[in-house]
Amino acid sequence: MNVGDLLTQLADSDNPRQGNGMSTPLEILSESFGHKAFRPGQADIVDLILSGKNVLAVMPTGAGKSICYQVPSQLLDRPTIVISPLVALMDNQAAGLRANGVSVSAIHSGQSREENVSQWKDVAQGRTKLLYLSPERLMQSRMLSAMKALDPALFVVDEAHCVSKWGPAFRPEYADLSQLKVLFPNAGVAAFTATADASTRKDIAEQLFAGQGEIIVHGFDRPNLSLTVSSLTNRTQQLLAWMESQRGESGIVYCLSRKNTEKYAEILREEGFNALPYHAGLSSEVRFETQERFLAEPAVVIVATIAFGMGIDKSNVRFVYHLNLPSSLEAYYQEIGRAGRDGAPSETGLIFALDDIRMRRQFIADDGSDTDHQMREHRRLDALLGYCEASKCRRQVLMAYFGETSEPCGNCDICLNPPDLIDATAEAKALFGAIAATGQRFGATHVIGVARGEETPRILQYEHDKLPVYGISDKSRQWFQGLLRQAVALRYLNVNMEAYGRLEIQPKAQAVLENDEPFKCKDPTPKKAAKSSKRRKPSYSKNPSFDERDSELLSRLKALRMDFAKQLGKPAFVIFSDATLIDMVSRKPKTRDEMLDVSGIGPSKFDRFGEAFLAELGD
Ligand code: ADP
Ligand code: ZN
Repeated sequence: MNVGDLLTQLADSDNPRQGNGMSTPLEILSESFGHKAFRPGQADIVDLILSGKNVLAVMPTGAGKSICYQVPSQLLDRPTIVISPLVALMDNQAAGLRANGVSVSAIHSGQSREENVSQWKDVAQGRTKLLYLSPERLMQSRMLSAMKALDPALFVVDEAHCVSKWGPAFRPEYADLSQLKVLFPNAGVAAFTATADASTRKDIAEQLFAGQGEIIVHGFDRPNLSLTVSSLTNRTQQLLAWMESQRGESGIVYCLSRKNTEKYAEILREEGFNALPYHAGLSSEVRFETQERFLAEPAVVIVATIAFGMGIDKSNVRFVYHLNLPSSLEAYYQEIGRAGRDGAPSETGLIFALDDIRMRRQFIADDGSDTDHQMREHRRLDALLGYCEASKCRRQVLMAYFGETSEPCGNCDICLNPPDLIDATAEAKALFGAIAATGQRFGATHVIGVARGEETPRILQYEHDKLPVYGISDKSRQWFQGLLRQAVALRYLNVNMEAYGRLEIQPKAQAVLENDEPFKCKDPTPKKAAKSSKRRKPSYSKNPSFDERDSELLSRLKALRMDFAKQLGKPAFVIFSDATLIDMVSRKPKTRDEMLDVSGIGPSKFDRFGEAFLAELGD
């Protein structure tokens, strides 16, 4: 049957673009994808797409963007073209869809010409309704004319922030996509991204559908991710303490430099972890193989620069650990968002160090862009520092930043372990006084030295030992660094990067100096590194019924899943996600019907794997 026949046959539908009069979106969701309900936000987007509207959806990683277009693709009368930047991403999506019994085509450079031709034929002849390809391939003139004949109903632009020069990752090959709206006036556009601030969103909507459509921001709250921030004591020790509670899990450790990815991967390997470095300096073969191992093998830890992550579709990443400060809250949230996409409890940790702030400011100052841009970047960084130094629920701080509200979460270090605020007015006055008295011309080391009465050559050279503030406090250097970090994060002080990181008094600090305004902060007394290992183990706390025996059962189900994955040569999460297995363990289904109630299991998955899992549950 060709596309024309399909059109005629389906022409009696109420909706101009909705061809399949038989099923509802919810039926497709449960029959083809095995999910019992749409997540908040998904249903709205599906409805918009089916009613022919253009839409830009900003949803964090793991919120379930794919379902928003995959479900409509099965209901639309003509093909859906998904524009996706990476072969690995396309292959994973395709594998996931096929495991659910949904047919799908993908055209990319990782396949032979014959294979690509046959994939195209499947779409052109109506056997598949979904075609994945890269932007550069789509925009070739031959492909565009073929595409015209195909008359797609919908173009889906994945990673849509790449369209905008305002965004964090502009890609020139994405810029051409702004022609689609002119070339294909009959097709809708649905764009998806996990990261775009207000001005970037407007720009994407303008480029892709001339602003004629809806922008939806949804689902930034990811309650299954625990949030922990610790100040730096010793990176290696902190990392090892963190990793101890993550044995047997897959995760990502982010650091800034290529060299450090190698160094920390080596340290972890020595401790018996299956850790691999990943950075842009490695050959594409090595990077590809590393990605594949991360997807296919259990318990692989990738120690990476930010080069790793985009397009990595692995739903059971159990932790993300930042050894250094990310560039902004957007970047941070996108990076930690790679954990727990299956909705199961996952942990995130971040080490926060004064040096990192200095370096980040330097990066911004050095990047050569105009001052407006630099100002924006500095403000973004300020927001991130405010998050790190939060003295109330971290999730509330995050959600406020992304424009959503939330209750105290009970799943961040502050909720679990509320910090005592101490009155540090006297020490703050000593520190701010040292900054003022030395002319706001020095950095942290020097002014702390003055307040503590150190006899460094520099202090003696400038005769700062003669100042009235010299030596008025006997707190330790580390203690002062903790106070300073908070004072910077809370905007009492500014670190001036144009002037070698010198510290400057801000109005709030002036008020402490002049009016005796109280200065309260978290106790900066250095904590032992070991304290961080007190964190809760990944407990399936949302499932109070989970006990020892259940954990053992869960391991057996995971082993069975691994057997299937090996047999089929597919990543394990393509069989069932961790969330599905956890749900299976708490429900302990005994029949097919009960099994179909488990989240993530539809008829097609049941037919393939259901009996084997029922048998394992019955043992
Ligand atoms: P994103 O593209 O937004 O990062 P995905 O589309 O990869 O997220 O979805 C993340 C995970 O959420 C996947 O494991 C997917 O199966 C699951 N998921 C999506 N929608 C639902 C739903 N309605 N109910 C249950 N799980 C869902
Ligand atoms: Zn909280």
